[in-house]
Amino acid sequence: MEAFYTLQGEGYHKGSAAYFIRIGGCDVGCHWCDVKESWDAQNHPPTDIESIVTEAQKYSDTIVVTGGEPLMWDMGPLTASLKKSGLQTHLETSGAYPLTGDWDWVCLSPKKRMLPISELYQQADELKVIVYNNSDLAFAEEQAAQVSSDCKLFLQPEWSRRDTAIPLIVDYVMKHPKWKVSLQTHKYLNIP
Ligand code: SF4
Repeated sequence: MEAFYTLQGEGYHKGSAAYFIRIGGCDVGCHWCDVKESWDAQNHPPTDIESIVTEAQKYSDTIVVTGGEPLMWDMGPLTASLKKSGLQTHLETSGAYPLTGDWDWVCLSPKKRMLPISELYQQADELKVIVYNNSDLAFAEEQAAQVSSDCKLFLQPEWSRRDTAIPLIVDYVMKHPKWKVSLQTHKYLNIP
């Protein structure tokens, strides 16, 4: 769909420069999705992998593949080419589809509308739960119960609800310090 060089704004690697490759297509349907234009893959004609990787390696040694939902497609060929070029591969996924591809880092961000398939939980290096309201904290604990013991745990306010979600999250993290706060820092920095 698009590719751009910026900073990773969220989660464990926040603040680090990275090249983002956004894959078109997603059928998860989160009502607060901020990239709804990604949903219909038909609107995003395919780009050949070689061009994507040639461009990516000009900018960064860390590549974040996001969406849309990248795992609707076989990520094997793209990640094989990125790895062959010596690049680190990071994935952002809802986990609703089986994991394909060769990844150095997997960020799992489960969505209630379409839960991760069971094998994804143990493959996650980072669990990032978006908090829209209070009920998402209980959902976060259900999800955290399924990931590996060394998986990093993040609660992130949904952007349009940040004024009400941030106090909830701050209070919750102080009471349950296994969690950390993740903010969409790229939005505060006004960068992509
Ligand atoms: S999974 Fe991601 S891209 Fe898909 S609808 Fe939800 S927020 Fe949007």
